[in-house]
Amino acid sequence: MERVANLSGAPQPTENPYLIAQQQVDIVAEKLKLDAGIREILRKPKRELAVNFPVRMDDGSVRCYTGYRVQHNLSRGPAKGGIRYHPDVTIDEVRALSMWMTWKCAVVNIPYGGAKGGVICDPKKMTLPELERLTRRYTTEISIIIGPERDIPAPDVNTNARTMAWIMDTYSMHKGYSVPAVVTGKPIAIGGSEGRAEATGRGCMYTVLEALKHLKMEPTRTATAVQGFGNVGATTALLLHEQGSRIIGLSDSRGGIYNPKGLDPHKALRYKQETGALADFPDSDPISNAELLALPCDILVPAALENQITVRNADKVRAKIVAEGANGPTTPEADEILYQKGIFLIPDVLANAGGVTVSYFEWVQDLQNLFWDVDEINRRLERIMVRSFQEVLNNSQCVEVNMRTAAYCLAVRRVAEATTTRGLYP
Ligand code: GLU
Repeated sequence: MERVANLSGAPQPTENPYLIAQQQVDIVAEKLKLDAGIREILRKPKRELAVNFPVRMDDGSVRCYTGYRVQHNLSRGPAKGGIRYHPDVTIDEVRALSMWMTWKCAVVNIPYGGAKGGVICDPKKMTLPELERLTRRYTTEISIIIGPERDIPAPDVNTNARTMAWIMDTYSMHKGYSVPAVVTGKPIAIGGSEGRAEATGRGCMYTVLEALKHLKMEPTRTATAVQGFGNVGATTALLLHEQGSRIIGLSDSRGGIYNPKGLDPHKALRYKQETGALADFPDSDPISNAELLALPCDILVPAALENQITVRNADKVRAKIVAEGANGPTTPEADEILYQKGIFLIPDVLANAGGVTVSYFEWVQDLQNLFWDVDEINRRLERIMVRSFQEVLNNSQCVEVNMRTAAYCLAVRRVAEATTTRGLYP
């Protein structure tokens, strides 16, 4: 399904994330009456690097992998964004994700542009030494464009603190001295930040609490369903549970579990760590990922991959609040359907911006060699998330647009201002 315009020029559904990201810019450019030149600049990434590189496998054979690093915009500061390992990575996906990073950093007003990286691979079928060799070689290939002042990677789907440690070490070996600020999301032992591991979920929780306050709902009287049980989904579930919300549905890539009386996310996490999946968790009924998205609940957190809520299932969503822990889980057509249904959407560029916000704290701490405690980190994170939520909400109420368009307007305006203020070179 990849149609964007038919002969009459009417927009058609697409699930190509890059086309979606461009469509989102077009909508906002119209609203902001943006200069045509700026609009052209913002519709495409500034720089794209594709790398094909060999990795020696444990059995002695050599396999070639393809990876990307895309920098969308550098007007407000160095590029920032994660690296994902997934068999379905495409250049268009990485392009879209790099654009969403630009808007995300601008929404929370941290001094970065957007970037993203990805390697086409199936990390679940690779051993740790193979993953280490892949990471070190990929780092070497993209080292011509990354660096603490240029482009700072971080974890994303299927990468974690250990992956960041390999990147930091490889980059530092090339330089001949340690460069902790080249990546964020590192282990604390080598310059990582307190609070970074749970920052995306924690930030998501803060935005959900603000949304509940706005809708005059009590956290303790809510039911939550979370799609995806990786770093973001699991942490969000744990923290919302801590706030008193009843977690009625959880899922991972293999399927979901449901109990209307409530699931204990701590036990579910332990269970998943022991068995490798959520399936057959005691006192729960099995459900599919599609069923999870349609559960009657107050808060729905899609925290897996792109294109989960689409024109095909958006009318089945029964939540009052959708908080996008994942990047790009909702297509533009589905956005419109959710809006018409009166569902309050906290868009990805706001809901999951806690991760890059604490990444920013980590980078600042690395650069000044002075480290903050976890209370300081969480206090600063809360302040930024609450302020950003209120700015987006005010924007959406003033100009009567949905929360995503409001967030984009705020972000695109900030990036456009930086671009015009700097002026055109040469
Ligand atoms: N991968 C995360 C995201 O999509 C974090 C990026 C970062 O910390 O640079 O926001």
